[in-house]
This record gives sequence, structure tokens and C-alpha cells, in this order.
Amino acid sequence: MNHIELAEKYGAHNYHPLPIVISKAEGVWVWDTDNNRFLDMLSSYSALNQGHRHPKIIAAMKEQLDRVTLTSRAFHNDQMGEFMKILCEISQMDKALLMNSGAEAVETAIKAARKWGYKVKGVEADKAEIIVCENNFHGRTTTIVGFSSEEQYRADFGPFTPGFRTIPYGDADALAAAINPNTVGFLFEPIQGEGGILMPPTGFISEARRICSENRVLLMADEIQTGLGRTGKMFACEHENIKPDILIIGKALGGGLYPVSAILASQEVMDLFHPGDHGSTFGGNPLACACGKAALNVLLDEKLPERAAELGEYFISRLRSIDSRHVKEVRGKGLLIGLEIDEASGVARPFCEALSQRGILAKETHQQTIRFAPPLVITREEVDWAVEQIQAVLL
Ligand SMILES: *Cc1c(COP(=O)(O)O)cnc(C)c1O
Repeated sequence: MNHIELAEKYGAHNYHPLPIVISKAEGVWVWDTDNNRFLDMLSSYSALNQGHRHPKIIAAMKEQLDRVTLTSRAFHNDQMGEFMKILCEISQMDKALLMNSGAEAVETAIKAARKWGYKVKGVEADKAEIIVCENNFHGRTTTIVGFSSEEQYRADFGPFTPGFRTIPYGDADALAAAINPNTVGFLFEPIQGEGGILMPPTGFISEARRICSENRVLLMADEIQTGLGRTGKMFACEHENIKPDILIIGKALGGGLYPVSAILASQEVMDLFHPGDHGSTFGGNPLACACGKAALNVLLDEKLPERAAELGEYFISRLRSIDSRHVKEVRGKGLLIGLEIDEASGVARPFCEALSQRGILAKETHQQTIRFAPPLVITREEVDWAVEQIQAVLL
């Protein structure tokens, strides 16, 4: 059996991958088992902002592998403090709590907001509510899929956790109207990546900030996909000069080498966690912290947010200049770009398959939209090459 047949036979079919078997990678490029080269325009859903196998992150991890990899939080380790210090400095938040996956960080944020609601805001026991948005994607745990508006994410996985209310994405009036005395948080994505690269109206984040502050509700930004340079700022909330109360990050925090996630919050919120309230065996392990520290330093040293801003603007303008009846819209910020295929031309998947024939790996989100989100280390020449291929497929 070949690799695909083995995966089909022995693995759960919870994904529908393109029929490409990747066996090595470097920077923005990956190679399949026949040594065909592809430009990675998905970047593992933005977990590879620093590019595949960045040498500095590899070096930091190798060094750590030779010293100590796991201590559990029953003891201190000599990597965690420094990592959290850098995290707090770049986000201008007070404190961090380290987890592994994005979904775990979102769950951590939900616990933090609820606890703040009971202990600080004075919400009656078990009455806390968190407002979420239509088309959200916050992960796959049972609590999180319970407040998804995507039928397939929920179907047959209930019963679900109560305490969530849904509003249309980007609708500040709906947010204000949904708040009641039991509301403890508003959980949102600055741009909805999995939802199809959906952008809220300009000013929505600052409106949400104002509404949340006025009503003593925590603004909880899920920047797992938009954060760490992807949209042309270190965090997408910075486009509106907003600081959330809880910032949730993951994906590129591990530099594409290791799962690392975190929430960042004010001292008031974070100090509500006491020993035993919450935890994770691998969260904050020294290998993860060495990796995360190097991943952040690469973003800073190589000015990857600035690079995403510049090349993203260029890429979007070049995509918009493609004259094709198949294209309904090109939208995005930085290097998080969606190209929506007109429904009259069918769904996006055949276009993704055609792109892979021309050496570009891109994946559709939500039937109609192709996401272009290359590693932020991509060069202008590589963007030009990609646009040529995209243009050819859209003719
Ligand atoms: C990917 C993602 C998650 C979930 O992260 P996992 O590491 O897959 O659990 C949560 N929120 C957003 C916005 C994401 O893009």
C-alpha cells in the first residue's frame, strides 16, 4: 500500500486532503515523495509564519533537546519565565498561561472569563454568559463546537455546554443588545480565517472594545490565526490600536515545530487562577518554551509583521488585477488573503487541484473561498511566481 492508502485504511477520515504526500520542506517550499516542489500557500493554517524548519528555531530546539524536555509544572524549569516575559512584552499584557493547542487555550480563556465573572463582576453561580459570533472557529472540543454555527461541526456531538449566545459577526449593535448582567465575555476573531477570511467592518474592534468596557465585559480576542504577524501587525487588534482583556494565541507560537499556545491577560484576571484550578501536563514544558522563544525572536528579528504588511498589500493588489470571470472577490489583510470563486463557476476545490498541478498548495475554506496564506518569509519574486500560476488557473 502507498502512503495515501495506508492513511485511508488505518486512519480516521476526519480530513479530505489533496492527494499530495509531503516528505520534506524548507522555508516556503515543500516536496512530495516524487520530489515535486510546491509553494505552501496554506502554512498549516498560519502555524508556519516563520516558514518550514526555520534554522534558528531548529537550533534552539536541538539545544533544548540535549538538556531537558519535560519537567511538568510540579517543578520550575529554566525556560518558561523568560518565554512568558517576551510574550508579555510583545503583547503588552501582564501575565501568560501556557497551553499546547489552540482549542486548549480557548478553553482556558473561557474558564478565565467565567471565573472573573463570578469572583469580580459578581455574576450569580452558573449563570455566566459569553457572547460569540456566527461563522466562528475556535477549535474542536465539545464545549467549543457547541457554540459553532457550522452544522457539521456540531452534528451528533451534543449535548453541549450552555452559557453561550451568538450574534452576527461584525455587528456592534447586536453585541450591545446581547449583553445582559450575566455577560462575562465577548469572544471573537479579528478576521474569521476558517469562516472564509471574513473581515468585520472597519472600526468594529474599537466599537466592541468600547461596548465591553462600558458594560464590564471582557474582550476576548482569538488571535490564534490572525496573531504573530499574519495580518501585517504582531496582533490584528493593533490595526485598531486595541488591547483585548484576554488574548489567545497558538499556531505560529510554536514556529511550525511544536504545539505551543497561550492566553495573555491582565493581572486582575490571571491572579484568579490558584494552584490546582487549571493545568496541563505539557503546557509550559521547557522544549515548548525554548521553541516559542525562538519563534518569537524570529518574528521580531526578521520583522515578519512588517513584511506581511508590505507583501500582503502587493499580493492583494496583484490578485485584484487578475481579470477573471471566476473571481467574485479578493479580500484580506497582510498575508491572510481570501479569493472567492463566483458560484457560477462552481466550488473552489477544482481550482485548488489545478493550482497543485502548477506547484501551489492552497486549500479552500467554506466551498467558495481559496485561502492564500504563505509563510511570512516569502519573497516578492515568489509572490510574483505564485500570481502567474494563479492567473493561469483562473483564465
Ligand atoms: C486553528 C484555530 C483554533 C484551534 O487551534 P488548534 O490548535 O487546532 O486547536 C482556534 N481558533 C482559531 C481562530 C484558529 O484558527
